[in-house]
Amino acid sequence: MSDTMRAVVVSEPGGSFELVERPVPDPGPEEVRVVVDACGICYSDSYVKEGSFPGIDYPRVPGHEIAGRVDSVGENVTAWEEGDRVGAGWHGGHCFTCDPCRRGDFQQCENGEITGLTFDGGYAEYAAVPAEALARIPDELDSVDAAPLLCAGITTFNALRNSGARPGDLVAVQGIGGLGHLGIQYAHAAGFETVALSRSPDKRDLAFELGADHFVDASEEDPAAALQGLGGARVILGTAPSAAAVESVVGGLGTDGELVVVGVPHEPAGVDVQHLVMTRGAVSGWASGHARDSQDTLEFSALRDVTPEIETYPLDAVDTAYDRMMANEARFRVVLEP
Ligand SMILES: [Zn+2]
Ligand SMILES: [Zn+2]
Repeated sequence: MSDTMRAVVVSEPGGSFELVERPVPDPGPEEVRVVVDACGICYSDSYVKEGSFPGIDYPRVPGHEIAGRVDSVGENVTAWEEGDRVGAGWHGGHCFTCDPCRRGDFQQCENGEITGLTFDGGYAEYAAVPAEALARIPDELDSVDAAPLLCAGITTFNALRNSGARPGDLVAVQGIGGLGHLGIQYAHAAGFETVALSRSPDKRDLAFELGADHFVDASEEDPAAALQGLGGARVILGTAPSAAAVESVVGGLGTDGELVVVGVPHEPAGVDVQHLVMTRGAVSGWASGHARDSQDTLEFSALRDVTPEIETYPLDAVDTAYDRMMANEARFRVVLEP
């Protein structure tokens, strides 16, 4: 094996992607080195590119949707061995000692690491990752499919399974994009009466293919009224990163309904509080999950044949790949194959 690898780095906030040769990282204690077979590109990678997130040291290799194989384990690692197929997502490890960790709530660790943000991520041939941040990839899943499931997948799967919705409940997924096209599949597989809400009527057929029971064209009809016409939603999964989108659906909640927002608008959203009071409704947020949540997502996806729609690119096409993702032109997630 060569001592060096190809990696894409960002050297400063607002800098461009540079494809460089750099030393292959050695795994430290409690770390594992992963051969990166695939790494998804996510909107959140713009935090690294633009420097719009606190605590990033440069140069940095982005990428928090890593799927690959263990090729070296550091000291004190007992859970993994060479050849294991593993993935790493946004949650890049935890401290085990802060109060949330002491309560077993690793997702809320106060000193949590973030893959590709607080340490180098998967836009490279190798990455060294804390052992507790790894999920096992089932044999049935290809690495290129597993990669986006480690961020877009876990976010929608974990938000839905931690909501109050039960089989048979009316669950709406707002937005049919990178997150939403997975959310519809999970909602259907979980046994919910699934509504796809979209402003793109051309996505109607796709929505039904993904498992939706209803399609609401929000460019033509009021989505809140449409949901009330179906009895009111128990859960609405908000994947469209827009305040207007959030505001437009709150009125569609039924009794004890909850709008769970996973796509983050970059401006405040106003909500109809009276409707929330009258329905005992709520608006909440959800982010990702820890490594076992990732593994649950991968296992459920393999069990129920949930896969992302992806475009794949080699590492040297990172600019094209990233631009397509950021311009919302990709269908629907973009994956690098280093
Ligand atoms: Zn992400
Ligand atoms: Zn902690």
